[in-house]
Amino acid sequence: MNSLVKSVALLGRGVVDSVLPPRCFSCGVLVASHGDMCPKCWTGLSFISKPQCECCGFPFEFSSQEEGEAGQLCGACMETTPPFINARSVFRYDDASKRLILALKYFDKLEGVEPFAKLMWRTIKPFAAEDAIIVPVPLHRRRLFQRRFNQSALLTKAMSKYSGLDMDMLSLLRIKPTASQGGLSRKLRAENVRSAFAIAETGKNKLKGRSVVLVDDVHTTGATVNECVRILLKGGVTSVAVISLARVVSR
Ligand SMILES: [Zn+2]
Ligand SMILES: [Zn+2]
Repeated sequence: MNSLVKSVALLGRGVVDSVLPPRCFSCGVLVASHGDMCPKCWTGLSFISKPQCECCGFPFEFSSQEEGEAGQLCGACMETTPPFINARSVFRYDDASKRLILALKYFDKLEGVEPFAKLMWRTIKPFAAEDAIIVPVPLHRRRLFQRRFNQSALLTKAMSKYSGLDMDMLSLLRIKPTASQGGLSRKLRAENVRSAFAIAETGKNKLKGRSVVLVDDVHTTGATVNECVRILLKGGVTSVAVISLARVVSR
């Protein structure tokens, strides 16, 4: 579908939605209202919860200390302190969540944006500064043109609505069209994103002295997020908390 036809189709969807019965945005079975996911799809997701790394949110198989004791760190965070204050993800990146995220990314299944943003805000709220500003991990303009939208930006917009916090889509830029990260090792991913981001001239005053909630879709090795956080801190941001929808959890 070319982008014009796609845009018209999207515009028309609001009208169509009010006529057609609501369907689960993941599998298509009938549900109570538009934007819902059916119970089967909900229960298929693996939500990440405690016990987990206090800093990066990596889930532990079992608690090595008494449950609830604060300050447990994963091996990676003990070895190198991450640049962010906290990172959290809503669910694990597995077959069930992958299907949802790809649908959101490539097939305009935008019904997921609002419920996901709500979950993301609930997850990061305890770590977000009261006057934080929400910023999405940006796409390079070439990729943005191909995809037509940045799903992290859509999630940011909805999170800003739920939280009442400011958002800023324009200040953090991806200035290098990095190759796809898929299939790259941790080291190569880090190299791939080096000097890929910058703060726009117009955004410098806007971000200086602020706390940021950085929004990403999938947290893999953390290379992209770490680089964004590094640039934000260099630009005078005081602290960054990171929220992603899904996290790749591998040993
Ligand atoms: Zn379903
Ligand atoms: Zn950690």
